[in-house]
Amino acid sequence: MSELLFTAPRAPTLPIADDSRHFPVHRIYCVGRNYAEHVREMGGTPERQRPVFFAKPADAVVGDGAVIPYPLATSDLHHEVELVIALGDGGAQLSAAQARQCIAGYAVGVDLTRRDLQHQAKDAGQPWDTAKGFDRSAPIGALRLASQWTPQAQRIALSVNDKLCQEGTLDLMILDVAQILVELSELFELQPGDLIFTGTPHGVGPLQPGDQVSAQIDGLPPLRFAIAA
Ligand code: MN
Repeated sequence: MSELLFTAPRAPTLPIADDSRHFPVHRIYCVGRNYAEHVREMGGTPERQRPVFFAKPADAVVGDGAVIPYPLATSDLHHEVELVIALGDGGAQLSAAQARQCIAGYAVGVDLTRRDLQHQAKDAGQPWDTAKGFDRSAPIGALRLASQWTPQAQRIALSVNDKLCQEGTLDLMILDVAQILVELSELFELQPGDLIFTGTPHGVGPLQPGDQVSAQIDGLPPLRFAIAA
């Protein structure tokens, strides 16, 4: 047998708008069930079900303009447009004020989801990893630095082949960005380079081979990607 070579994996990065630096991605955390209308469209009850945390591998990140092969092991790939927080600092058991100080920037992301596997996992009481944490499941646009943009009630939207599918405003989030970081930092010591997907508004739906996806949040660089034909 020939000698095995152990090469360090290339660290995923994200470009920063109007800045020559690149943001090194450390980990990806996600919040589920953070918009009431989306909880209802998934058959849930927002008054009874708390937002839920899960993760994706850091190398699930793909950048603006990517062509993504239709994923393995699914016939029901779904889009979920989300605000993504990028951390420049971290810590455990953060206060809301400390949490805000950790934020380096924001981006538009899509939490790609194998919905058929998620339904199977929910029915079986199993974790969501295979439904959420698969290869290329985290397309994310360029970051806008937090010094240039603050989440308020901006419009968040996603179109497939120029047809509007998802539309909401960021003030509809159940946990706001500081509350998300406070709760997450009770579970994990947050680190510089961590990204956090903050949940999706209603209107999630399937993607097909050949689809062109366009995701926007007012004031952030847009995200476009395609599913390979
Ligand atoms: Mn999501």
